[in-house]
Amino acid sequence: MSKRQASRVYTGSLTDENNQLKTTIKELLESARYNQQTQDRFYALELYFLEANSYELLIRRILTDLKRQLKLSQVELFLLDPQQETQQLISEIYGQLNYKNLIYTDSISEIKALYSGDIHLILSNEQHDIAKLGPGMSQSVALLPLRRGNHIIGSLHLGSRDQQRFHPGLGGEFLLHLGTMISVCIESSINQERYKHLSLVDLLTRAKNRRFFFQALATEIARSKRSKKPLSCLFIDIDHFKAVNDLHGHLTGDRALRCVADTIGPLLRQSDVLARFGGEEFTVMLPDCDLSHAKEIAERIRDKISHVDIANDNNQNFQLTVSIGVSYWQEDQQGFADSEAIQNHLISQADKGVYRAKEDGRNCVRVVEIVAVDNNKNPD
Ligand code: GH3
Ligand code: MG
Ligand code: MG
Repeated sequence: MSKRQASRVYTGSLTDENNQLKTTIKELLESARYNQQTQDRFYALELYFLEANSYELLIRRILTDLKRQLKLSQVELFLLDPQQETQQLISEIYGQLNYKNLIYTDSISEIKALYSGDIHLILSNEQHDIAKLGPGMSQSVALLPLRRGNHIIGSLHLGSRDQQRFHPGLGGEFLLHLGTMISVCIESSINQERYKHLSLVDLLTRAKNRRFFFQALATEIARSKRSKKPLSCLFIDIDHFKAVNDLHGHLTGDRALRCVADTIGPLLRQSDVLARFGGEEFTVMLPDCDLSHAKEIAERIRDKISHVDIANDNNQNFQLTVSIGVSYWQEDQQGFADSEAIQNHLISQADKGVYRAKEDGRNCVRVVEIVAVDNNKNPD
């Protein structure tokens, strides 16, 4: 074979090989581009979850936005919450979060049952796996374990109408990464809520603190202005509390404060806010409550507290009484320049009510009618 011939033969086969190589490279590039796009989409989603600055927002993003972004037919989130601690914490901050696809479970065995034992990523278009999700139109499903370190914290379930979307042959790297990120986000948002809660709660009585009360009052005033519904407040001051400390000691005094908060709590609705305003004073905000109802609630609280037995260190029972001032506001009340003026009015009217109740002999409820406060003046 001459050099030229050899070269021609060689050139010919090189062309074939080149073409083949070109096709392979093209396919690889296409696949890389597709993977890059998928990765970008997942990264964008993960960033979106990381940016959710509250548990409530994070859950909403997982259950609604993830479904839309990934064009899924179903998303379900199981969270392990053994002592209902998370549910308790979240309901104290946000009230009840009503997502039917957010399922709390107190036992790991419920999650194990979904994975039939060993908990690992499941991609499947088989009926028995599809049936693990609630009723829906899914033809294939992904079950992603949510882990922090060695612990399972929950399970995320994705369903698609496309039978080929999730099947066992599919690489699950992106989904696994997404699961890891979601686990991190859930854990850190619960921790953040814990800190948030600590900064808004009075640690002695577990009632809300003054800071929370003012935040909630501002929110509720804005809501009442829009809805034109009445808003009432109670100021509750324990009578002769100094004497309780003097007679029974501070520890019994602390127990008495807890007891008062525990007595008031169950007499309120979920939307009402009980706060320890300071010392032996509590406030209650009653949204959508007019004056006559507020007086009824105040009277019920006053009566109930006067009948509660509190034990001192020698196991002898004593009782407390409270003086309560009531204030109220409704959109049609004239003379309030802005929300701050309404807030000043609610606080000063209730405060005056307490003073009147003290003057009238304590253990009673009083409403002091006052004229609207000019926002630029001190309420007192
Ligand atoms: P009045 O009927 O006029 O309200 O009398 P009072 O004794 O309740 O009011 P005063 O303001 O004279 O005293 C309030 C007392 O509450 C004094 C203070 O030591 C006590 N106190 C405030 N915070 C706490 C607390 O966290 N624990 C205990 N044990 N006592 C507290
Ligand atoms: Mg006081
Ligand atoms: Mg007092």
